Amino acid sequence: MLPTPLAKALAGLGPFVLDGPVASVLPPKPASIESRLGSSRRELRGAYRGTRDRVDRRGRGGPGVRVVVVGGGWAGIAASIVLAERGVQVTLVEKGDSIGGRAGAFEVRLEDGASFRMERSFPAIFPQYYNVRALLRRVDPELASLRRLEDYPVLAHDGTQASFGGLPSTPPLNLIALLRRTPFVSLADLRQLDVVAMRALLTFDPQKSYAEHDRETAGSFLDRLGLPSRARELLLRVFCHGAFRDAGTLSAAEMMSLLHYHFLGNPEGLAFEVPDEPTCDAFFAPFSRYLAGLGVEVRLGQKATAVHAARGDKLAVEAGGTIEADGVVLALDVRGTQALFAASPDLRRDTELAEGVQALCTSPGYFVLRLFLDRAPDPTRPAYAAVVGHGMLDGIALFDRLEGESRRWALRTGGAVVQLWAFGVPDSLGDVAASEALRSALEELYPELRQATVLHAEVLRDAERAGFGPGSAASRPKVGTPYGNVTLAGDWVKLPFPAALMERAAASGVMAANALLDRWDVRGEPVWTLPPRGFVASLAGLRFGR
Ligand SMILES: Cc1cc2nc3c(=O)[nH]c(=O)nc-3n(C[C@H](O)[C@H](O)[C@H](O)COP(=O)(O)OP(=O)(O)OC[C@H]3O[C@@H](n4cnc5c(N)ncnc54)[C@H](O)[C@@H]3O)c2cc1C
Repeated sequence: MLPTPLAKALAGLGPFVLDGPVASVLPPKPASIESRLGSSRRELRGAYRGTRDRVDRRGRGGPGVRVVVVGGGWAGIAASIVLAERGVQVTLVEKGDSIGGRAGAFEVRLEDGASFRMERSFPAIFPQYYNVRALLRRVDPELASLRRLEDYPVLAHDGTQASFGGLPSTPPLNLIALLRRTPFVSLADLRQLDVVAMRALLTFDPQKSYAEHDRETAGSFLDRLGLPSRARELLLRVFCHGAFRDAGTLSAAEMMSLLHYHFLGNPEGLAFEVPDEPTCDAFFAPFSRYLAGLGVEVRLGQKATAVHAARGDKLAVEAGGTIEADGVVLALDVRGTQALFAASPDLRRDTELAEGVQALCTSPGYFVLRLFLDRAPDPTRPAYAAVVGHGMLDGIALFDRLEGESRRWALRTGGAVVQLWAFGVPDSLGDVAASEALRSALEELYPELRQATVLHAEVLRDAERAGFGPGSAASRPKVGTPYGNVTLAGDWVKLPFPAALMERAAASGVMAANALLDRWDVRGEPVWTLPPRGFVASLAGLRFGR
């Protein structure tokens, strides 16, 4: 039973509404109390328009409607699929030798000559990745390639282990259950929290929160909140992906959005899934075949160097030759987008957009170490664990318990494939020093691996992660541009609802395709979001801090 004041307040809950061109999210019928609490996904109303199913020979966008999609990560794949399924001729230009972008995998050679695929990022597919899942269902209708990890443990340096497994999925019951059992926050800590800051967290709203808190750093907001340092680190590392652990470089509004997206407003729970084979096999090879079946021309190893205005309202994309198109989706990473704008005076005609692109930033570098060990860790160790308060180490994944390729290697050798992550690693720290730091953190947490011999090690480091600095929301480019026939997509684009990483990339790709399809009066693809506002945002009658 819900306590009476809460039940009363729920009765006054309004519909979820976002401002902006594609942004009203209205449940069609009066919603049940459960769905008002946030236990269901929402379709973004207005995310697509158009009266026709596909471009055809009769309409304005008749034969030969061509779109060039630049960038073959989640964003570019999503845009290509949505466009090609509706009859648009799509050319996908990708500078790498395969699609998948940062979520893809690359081939490495082991000492014994065997080839092996290593992911650039950790492929956690959270249950609220609605748009990613809808795309994956095209190639894997039952999502059979995903396996669910029931727990999401967090290991602290003093041996404390917190678990996000088995929590109720409906907000705010998830928060209440977590607070009751977490060793990271005590009742006394909770009493010290600043009610005004707490209210701001619980009443997250995509417009209001950015208007009020984007200029503030996450660090100063957390100082005001008065969260104990362990809980603070948990929040930054787990919900803000470690990448933004330097709370001085992250906008407070973005931190609130991430916390809402992953936990406070997430109706699906935190138990995520991972593919059972490397992402190149599980996701991107099937997507390549699907795109080929739709007639998409995928040009790999081809870098787009500029985009110009061409005859009429056509565009010309320079990519090892000129490709003329009726529309362009720029689905590149931050640096790729900036380089393309710098080389394309026509893209910079709108000063506000050009300055917005110029102002984008990346977050500090990440470091990935994959170890092929001659022995396995204790069988009770979790397949994936986030790490808090242990130097640079942010996460440990035992890949042979997640993916078939690693499992087969482990069965063959009796060893284990362990991947370690660290975010915010300074360039000045060399590969050897960073690897040693991660290895020794691993051995402290999993002492049984102290005697393990490393049969092979792979290092990957980069800085290509979108940054969300204080004050960046005002100038952050959106999917639509003033040019109309150029749209933007990627995990850095401003969306009118909370989303993160792969899901942000996929959702923006769908929206970029929809915006172009609208020009030809073609209906686009539905876009899905969790309830965009915090569960207390609309609770009439509940007043915190009064
Ligand atoms: C270590 C790490 C761990 C991560 N873990 C997770 C996780 O657990 N869950 C999650 O959801 N996300 C995770 N991510 C983030 C996720 O990988 C990204 O958010 C997502 O893949 C971004 O997709 P995108 O399409 O926006 O960009 P990208 O994947 O970067 O795609 C952009 C593409 O554009 C191409 N390109 C660039 N310039 C040009 C040009 N001039 N011409 C042609 N092509 C060009 C690039 O080669 C690239 O393929 C992680 C990332 C890292 C680094």
